[in-house]
Amino acid sequence: MADRVLRICALYPDLMNIYADRGNLLLLERRCGWRGIGFEVTPAGLGQRIDPDAHDLFYLGGGQDRDQLLVAQDLVETKRDALHAATAAGRVVLGVCGGYQLLGHSYAFGDEQVPGVGLVDLRTVRSETGPRLIGNVAIEVELPGTDGPRILAGFENHGGRTHLGAGEQALGRVLRGHGNSGDSGFEGVMRGGVIGTYLHGPLLPKNAWFADWLVQRALGLDALSALDDALEDAAHAAARRAAGV
Ligand code: GLN
Repeated sequence: MADRVLRICALYPDLMNIYADRGNLLLLERRCGWRGIGFEVTPAGLGQRIDPDAHDLFYLGGGQDRDQLLVAQDLVETKRDALHAATAAGRVVLGVCGGYQLLGHSYAFGDEQVPGVGLVDLRTVRSETGPRLIGNVAIEVELPGTDGPRILAGFENHGGRTHLGAGEQALGRVLRGHGNSGDSGFEGVMRGGVIGTYLHGPLLPKNAWFADWLVQRALGLDALSALDDALEDAAHAAARRAAGV
């Protein structure tokens, strides 16, 4: 029995898992396993309540507009309060693309106004005239506890434009690609342990260093043991090359 266990709550894993976003959980599982850290995933689907104290990291992947419509009301009704309690207690919440949009106040498209859980101050509106924002992307991020800026590389495909409130901080600065709105120069959001990003790829297999940062933060550890990251580094380098960075 491992003395440390990373306990994940996977929100709507059957509905919110576009672009192989489930790979994010697989990567976390492997990297924990290689280090002798236990790993536990609890799925939370429609109608299921969640316990804010039972998980270290809450994960919500990407989804099409229709999937977001399906889960949003449920997320607000059965999980919002627990997610607020969890973040107040310092737990990590990671939302990718459609999941990122639902961390904010709302996502509007056509006649629909999809509610979010309001963990962060942002709103998303789908452009009815502009193109979808698609392509390889690289952003520069500076995370607490890391020495200097680092790069996250991935792939984005969203119709929504996300606008951060005045006091909110982006996850990173766009080096290549579109990011939150196509013209803000910023990507994602980060407030304490609440992190949202448009990066698929999936995100964590292409940026294993970031997966480790999340594990360390979620478990409150000072450091993690080093792994042989030859393949992970090659995947990261390929993602950066694809984005031209
Ligand atoms: N439905 C959202 C949009 O297009 C998110 C899509 C996604 O998760 N790839 O903006």
